[in-house]
Formats: sequence, C-alpha cells, structure tokens
Amino acid sequence: MREHCGLCGVAGDPEAVALVAEGLHAQQHRGQEAAGLLVSSSEGLKVHKGLGLVSQVLSTMPDGWRTSGIPAAMGHVRYGTFGSGGVINAQPLLVRMAGVQVGIAHNGTITNAAPLREDLERSGAIFTTNSDTEVVLHLMAREMEGTGGHIRHSLELALERLEGAFCLLLLTPSELIAVRDPHGFRPLNLGRIGHSGWAVASETIAFPLCCAEYVREIRAGEILSIPNGGGEPRSGTFDGRETLFGGPCRLSQCIFEHVYFARPGSLVFGDSVYEVRIRMGETLAAEAPSVCDTVIPVPDSGMFAALGYSRKMCVPFDMGFTRNHYVGRTFIDPATARRAAMVTRKLQPIPEAVKGRRICVVEDSIVRGTTSRARIRALREAGAKEVHMRVSCPPHRYGCFFGIDFPEPSSLIANTRTLEQIASLLEVDSLAYLSLEGMLSCVRAHSPCDYCTACFSGLYPVQPPSDGIPRPCGG
Ligand code: AMP
Repeated sequence: MREHCGLCGVAGDPEAVALVAEGLHAQQHRGQEAAGLLVSSSEGLKVHKGLGLVSQVLSTMPDGWRTSGIPAAMGHVRYGTFGSGGVINAQPLLVRMAGVQVGIAHNGTITNAAPLREDLERSGAIFTTNSDTEVVLHLMAREMEGTGGHIRHSLELALERLEGAFCLLLLTPSELIAVRDPHGFRPLNLGRIGHSGWAVASETIAFPLCCAEYVREIRAGEILSIPNGGGEPRSGTFDGRETLFGGPCRLSQCIFEHVYFARPGSLVFGDSVYEVRIRMGETLAAEAPSVCDTVIPVPDSGMFAALGYSRKMCVPFDMGFTRNHYVGRTFIDPATARRAAMVTRKLQPIPEAVKGRRICVVEDSIVRGTTSRARIRALREAGAKEVHMRVSCPPHRYGCFFGIDFPEPSSLIANTRTLEQIASLLEVDSLAYLSLEGMLSCVRAHSPCDYCTACFSGLYPVQPPSDGIPRPCGG
C-alpha cells in the first residue's frame, strides 16, 4: 500500500464540520482515493468515511452534522495506489481504548511500522486495516494501564517508538491533538479562527476556506493540543517538556512537496510554493538555457517553473498542451502501456501553438519517463520543429521511504542512466535538470540543509526499513 495524504482539523468553532469539509476540498490534490470526517458530537465521537472524492464522500454525511453546532472535527484525504485496499484503510480511524474514544488520521510513513506490527501481532493484537497508522493506536492502548488511562501520556509513550515521517491529528472527547515528527518530513500548519477557534492543516491553502488565518508551522517534534471547545493551544508534553523527542534532530523537510506535490497557493515549510516554483524555473534558465521560440509547461505541475523559465529566458510562454480534466489519475496505473495511452488522452498538444516552432517543454519531474516520452512524441506529431526538455528538479535516482509514491528504484528512468541515455530514450533534442544546489537555493524560510533530498541524493536522513523496499504507506 502506498499513500500520501492531507489533514485538516478545527476546534473551538460551532461550524467545525463545515470548515473541515472546506479544508478537505482545498486539499483534495493530496489524495483522491478516500476521504473521511470525524466529529466530536454530544453523543461522542462519530466518523463518516468512504472511497472517492471529498464531495462524493461528504454528500452522504449524516443530516444535521453541519448544523448541530459541533465544536471540533477533523478529516483526512487519502492517496492510495492500485490495489491498496478499500474503505477499510480510509481514515480517520476511530477506536475505544480503556473506555475512551480516540480518533486518528495520519500523513507520512512510519518506517519501522512493519517490525512494530509484527511484535504487536505476536503478543495478540488484532489489526483491522493494513495501514501503519493503526500501529500507533495499538501502541497507545498498551500504555493505557500504566498511565492510568491518560490519553496524552499514552500517546507520547507510543510516539517515542515511532521512526520516519508522521504528521498526526488525534481527536478525543476533550481535545484535538496535532503531532509532527522530529524530522518534520511533511508539512503541518496552525491557523486561527476568530477569537477562540483554531485550525490545523497540511497545507495553508485550506485556511481561507476554513475562515482561518495562518499563524505558524507546527514545529518538527511538536505536540500541540487544543481544547475541543476552543481556547489557547498548549504545546509540549503532558508533563511540561517542550518537545517529546529529546535532543536536536536534523530537520528533513520533503523538498518534493515544493517541486510537485503541494498546491501553488500554499505556504509549505514557511515558503510560498508559487514563489519557490517560479524561482526553480528561473534558476533552471540560468543553469540550462535553451535555444527555443516558445516555452511550454506540462500542465499542471510544470506551470510555474515554466513561467519562471520563460521570464528569465525572455522567451514567450505558451500553453502547448490542452488538458482533459475528466481523465482519472495516470501516475498510479502500473501497466506501462495503459498509462501511456491514458497520458495521451489526458494531455493533447495544440498544433497551432507548436507547429514549426522550437519548443522548450518544462516539466516538474521525470519519474519513470513513460509519460514524458509520450508527450514529446505527441509534440513532434503536432509539428514541433525541435523539442527541448528542462526539468525543475534533479534526476530521481532513489526510492522514497517517507511518504511520496515513487515506483521501485529500478523503474526510475534516471536510476542507472546518464543524461545522454535519458535524452535519447525520451527522444528530445536536449535535456537538462535543475541541480541539487540550484533547487535548494529556491527555498528561503529554512536553510537548504533542512530538507530531505534522499530521492535525488540517496542520503536518507532516517534508516530505511530493513527490507529496503520503498513503502510510502501511512496516511
Ligand atoms: P513519468 O516520468 O512518466 O513517470 O511521470 C512524471 C510525471 O508524473 C510528472 O509530470 C510529474 O508531475 C508526475 N509525478 C511525479 N511524481 C509523482 C507522484 N509521486 N505521484 C503522482 N504524480 C507524480
């Protein structure tokens, strides 16, 4: 199972359900397989979830949830790949431990989930999903007796056993708890709603729709709890320590959130995704100019890098592809031939925009290369005289263990190939990637060494799972 997801929670506002629903809509790009909403109602915690888009899933939400003044709610959108299970893995998960209801939703990948799960199963734990998120619940449940049924303390003891990438939202009958792992792999942000309400979201693009104003990032290693009824959030452990995870830990924020995953209207790790992508395009133009008549993006993710590239090059930007928005996701289809066919259907060249011209196509990333090759061919068939390609990140050579869905390394076009070999496979007249240093020079809010670049450099900030299989599961 492979996932990459989005989180949204609201506490202290009687419109919490409607606001979380809006926050999930705004983050639909982070996961389209399943969605779910968990509310803290007068009859206890209740969950509603299903397969499909937020609009489909929430259209069958129980009557009255939106209007009954529920003060706290949280939700999740889930990205799953082919065969990654059904509604059983949809989140939030809701359980009762030692008589207390606890709901959880997760973005990231717990890298030591497999051995933890094996241990738990050996000692009798029964799992109902194949998601690593459930491991957290089982670890918490084991601590409940020793902590006298103290949820926060039990959670903190469970968190100390986790490795890898995890942004978590938990809802109990009394509080909404946000957690970010000490490496800060995935983004998580805090927003303020009026005087006593608060919102938490993976991406800040959710905040305007949640009627929230951005306050700050949830810090790496931070545990923040907000009373369901509103009031000041409390940061730190239940017994007053600032952070749970001990000494200093290298920040390892995922740079690929900026390259591809996040929405351009978001702040991610404190930087505007829009501005970072424009700078990536400008830096790419400075590093690898091309002789061309028109710069065109691969929509949608290559759009802003292409804009930056064309501005810096002083070459006109044009839309050379038209996108069919009604074709489903192409990236996850494991059958190469089928994926290529879907890609052709999804993006078609506009002959009038490319015919007889020297085109420079700007793409955010090349992964397997199959879609890129199909696009290059289509441009030539539409009459392009030359096709140059520029990519706004370095070559992807390694797998991700921290929550991005990439195929196994041997399927990555750049895994063992040189630039010339890749250019010849893609059938382009020239090819260049943004350098690692160039990419990192485009972020401003944190230092360049605060980012994980493992998929480009092979330098993993956290030990990969012992089987070495990229398993970006989680929530
Ligand atoms: P390909 O090189 O044919 O495997 O596909 C690369 C395209 O997939 C690029 O246009 C990217 O925007 C997009 N892409 C890159 N990484 C991912 C990912 N993890 N999930 C979905 N799409 C992705």
